Amino acid sequence: MPIFEYHCNACKTNFEVLQRTNDTKKPLKCPNCGTQDTKKRFSAFAALGTEKETVKDSAT
Ligand SMILES: [Zn+2]
Repeated sequence: MPIFEYHCNACKTNFEVLQRTNDTKKPLKCPNCGTQDTKKRFSAFAALGTEKETVKDSAT
């Protein structure tokens, strides 16, 4: 399984997640603070076709 890097906009934490590619379109919860305000950072090998998904979720 590929490893994806995420960056949390709330607490500025970078974390890595083992994910199936089918699941990468969902926002992921930050393991540190629990927010879904995270941004996927593709690993070098997966840098093709980067799609920017801005998730504006104003949930508490
Ligand atoms: Zn966080």
